[in-house]
Amino acid sequence: MNRICYVVAMVAEAQPFIEHYGMKEVKDFFHPLPCMLYEAEVNGKTLNVVLNGRQNGSDLVGCEAASVATLSAIQRLNPDIVINSGTCGAFDCNGAEIAQVFIGNKAMFHDRRVPGDDAWGTQSIGNYSVWEGSAKMAEVLGLKTGKVTTGSSLDMQPCDLEIIKSNGGELKDMEGAAVGFVCSLFNVPIVYVKSVTDLCDSGAETFEEFSKNLKAACESLRIVNEKVIDYLTKME
Ligand code: SAH
Repeated sequence: MNRICYVVAMVAEAQPFIEHYGMKEVKDFFHPLPCMLYEAEVNGKTLNVVLNGRQNGSDLVGCEAASVATLSAIQRLNPDIVINSGTCGAFDCNGAEIAQVFIGNKAMFHDRRVPGDDAWGTQSIGNYSVWEGSAKMAEVLGLKTGKVTTGSSLDMQPCDLEIIKSNGGELKDMEGAAVGFVCSLFNVPIVYVKSVTDLCDSGAETFEEFSKNLKAACESLRIVNEKVIDYLTKME
């Protein structure tokens, strides 16, 4: 693996490891797109971080921005592997804890309700596969795995929960499956590294919980990402 490319939605999620590796911004690389590129060399390999970018003073979260960033990253950088890393909601009833970091084992959408035959339903849910070495890597690094479930909202409506539960979703985010979809089109393997900011079934208000735990979740994310980068850059 010579080039590893992270696709990250929020500056807060990427900043700790951009700083850790002393990554340099490659200014205007994606102009006129809002995506931002950072680069560093780690263990003789190229490490890139592509951020979705910002608009009107806030990070571009969500599937559209993540798809644009992933498509541009793959076409312009030709990475051997894409890593979608960020924060997520998880479920207390599955034993998840705040700031716990998971490796994704599959990715689905939970808010695309398209009636029709099974082909439409299947396409809506997505169920994208991850890099085949994900389970082994999680085991070696002592991390749990879980199914990423993606939608366009931070909150969770009852119809979202129903789809999440009936399809085994565990790690609720706003980008994962979109990144997985684009990777699947190019046959580029994808790894998910997700840190828990909130527990969707805790009864607490999600945004409050998210805001309170963002810093801790991003810190544990940095620690795990260093291990992931070490693992991937040292494997043959
Ligand atoms: N207004 C917020 C925006 C955060 S949106 C702010 O001030 O920072 C939430 C981001 O964190 C998304 O990129 C999403 O992928 C992730 N996320 C964390 N918890 C989530 C949850 N419970 N549901 C959906 N996305 C979540």
